[in-house]
Amino acid sequence: MEVQKIMQDLERKHPGESEFLQAVSEVLESIKDVYNQHPEFEKAKIVERIVEPERVHMFRVPWVDDNGEVHVNIGSRVQFNGAIGPYKGGLRFHPSVNLSIMKFLGFEQTFKNALTTLPMGGAKGGSDFSPRGRSDAEIMRFCQAFMDELYRYIGPDEDVPAGDIGVGGREIGYLFGQYKKLTHRYEGVLTGKGIEWGGSILRPEATGFGAVYYLREVLKHDGKEVKGIRVAMSGYGNVGWGIMKKIDELGGKVTYFAGPDGYIHDPDGVCGEEKLNFILEMRAKDPMHCKPYADKFGVDFVEGQKCWGVKDVDVYMPAATQNDVNLEWAKKIAESGVKYYIEVANMPTTNDALNFLREQKHMIVAPSKAVNAGGVGVSGLEMAQNSERLVWTAEEVDHQLHKMMENIH
Ligand code: GLU
Repeated sequence: MEVQKIMQDLERKHPGESEFLQAVSEVLESIKDVYNQHPEFEKAKIVERIVEPERVHMFRVPWVDDNGEVHVNIGSRVQFNGAIGPYKGGLRFHPSVNLSIMKFLGFEQTFKNALTTLPMGGAKGGSDFSPRGRSDAEIMRFCQAFMDELYRYIGPDEDVPAGDIGVGGREIGYLFGQYKKLTHRYEGVLTGKGIEWGGSILRPEATGFGAVYYLREVLKHDGKEVKGIRVAMSGYGNVGWGIMKKIDELGGKVTYFAGPDGYIHDPDGVCGEEKLNFILEMRAKDPMHCKPYADKFGVDFVEGQKCWGVKDVDVYMPAATQNDVNLEWAKKIAESGVKYYIEVANMPTTNDALNFLREQKHMIVAPSKAVNAGGVGVSGLEMAQNSERLVWTAEEVDHQLHKMMENIH
């Protein structure tokens, strides 16, 4: 394969879709040496096929707010690759959502899902709808309107959406209710459901737990354990929160975490129920500000800054969103002397920054497609439970998750 030629063709077909082109280029650069040892791949045009989404659905989502005003959003579902199972992947509701972001996430999901060893293809969907500041009733009406279109394209053996940024248990509930109404079917068509109606008990924390299990395997190579390590991270959503909880359980400390408004430095770590519960409350009240944590617990808050580059930690975990770490930040990270860079969010590092970090001899860089696969892995387990009409215990799910992350690593 000639990466440049493939990228030129792709750019012609998907002009201006920078996140999508970035994600493909990263994967092609990383596999080209092995791929090119297999002329049979070249002959069958495997790469040319795998970089093109199988299908893209786009639809209009009109809905009415509490004041009676009509809004029109765009909804989409990119069914990227169904070679090894029904399409699987989350739905993102965020103003930044566009087709480029959906394609990048669907492309990455294909590889991530395959890594779990479960039979799941890759997809992603979502809308440019912003749930911020919206009432429950508005969220419900939006989700219903979204499902009025989406239900045609999904099914337990066809495509099984889940949550992502802006889509959690509440949204999945509204979506599932509307799906049932439209189809008259009670089936495992969405994951991330509430436990009372078919959800997996560990799903909200699973991505974060999986990331820490992955980190644990990485540390084992150096004869180290999670106990005693200090972590700087970005994000404190479901994924970030799961990391904080598991790190605390295993005796480590998240001493820095960053949100949209700046970063927190808590030298004692985000430990114990009070702090962990406070983060849940803080996030539910206002997802854009983490400063209230500093006010409540009397720790430092650095406004408008990211915590990349701090020296008094052992591990960095970017767990917020794409392109959180650019080359400038990567240089600060490298200078800090910290050894472990564990990607957690989908594509949290720009390509030039990632290449730069990988070149640093003193550093270990772990890729997000493997690190965050535990979340979708547990979704795969939820699908299995729904097909069997069984409910597994948290211990059973956690055990499977742990095994999965051990194998991926
Ligand atoms: N949105 C999550 C991810 O990025 C979850 C997907 C799923 O559970 O289907 O993997």
